[in-house]
Amino acid sequence: MSVPGQLFIISAPSGAGKTTILKQVMADLPGLAFSVSHTTRTPRAGEVNGRDYHFVDRPSFERLRTAGDFLEWAEVHTNFYGTSRSAVAEQLTAGLDVILDIDVQGASQVRSIRELAAVSLFILPPSLTELEKRLSGRGTDSAEVIRLRLENALREIAASGSYDHRIINDQLEEAVEMVKAVILAARSHCGRGRNGDPLPEFPDSLGARV
Ligand code: ADP
Ligand code: 5GP
Repeated sequence: MSVPGQLFIISAPSGAGKTTILKQVMADLPGLAFSVSHTTRTPRAGEVNGRDYHFVDRPSFERLRTAGDFLEWAEVHTNFYGTSRSAVAEQLTAGLDVILDIDVQGASQVRSIRELAAVSLFILPPSLTELEKRLSGRGTDSAEVIRLRLENALREIAASGSYDHRIINDQLEEAVEMVKAVILAARSHCGRGRNGDPLPEFPDSLGARV
């Protein structure tokens, strides 16, 4: 029988580097699944429907929401985003560790479902000036969209104290290593069994002289 996977939540103010970090972490660590959210936002250049997001119009999003298909959902920067309940359940049941790339409102909804035992990480930029530089440098958003995302960044950073881990993305490689370390520690069952399960007993033959 497969062991159910561990759920991870990762949030950050837009432009902090979460997508860049996650791509590297997922390339380095096998057994991680990315939960592809539904959104009413229009795709950016290079984004692929079904890989980066399921891009849907507002009526379709509302139908899914009303049907209870979302584990969590939120309005972020004037668009709607939601996590498919059934897709996450399937991945966890298959024994995969699942990454939810969601905002602070969605994170709070998922954390409130205690039996999910999600481990949460918040990625911080080294400064607001650097955040603005990264948003402009990415070249994907208009000045108006960048202004809105910077305004929201302050509110999001203020909520970051509720996360299990806060990681500053200054040097990219260091941030990637820190995120990997959190995932590996959660996988190792250190200190508390995964999903609250008791830790496995050591066989007598180990002679437990500790
Ligand atoms: P997010 O997913 O958090 O919105 P992105 O991963 O798209 O952010 O990163 C925003 C921009 O910042 C991208 O152009 C990316 O290449 C750049 N970036 C990410 N991490 C760093 C870093 N540590 N130092 C400098 N630039 C970075
Ligand atoms: P972006 O438009 O830059 O891809 O994402 C904007 C914000 O929406 C990010 O903070 C991202 O984490 C968040 N987001 C993406 N998918 C979901 C989701 O399914 N639920 C929630 N609550 N937020 C999401």
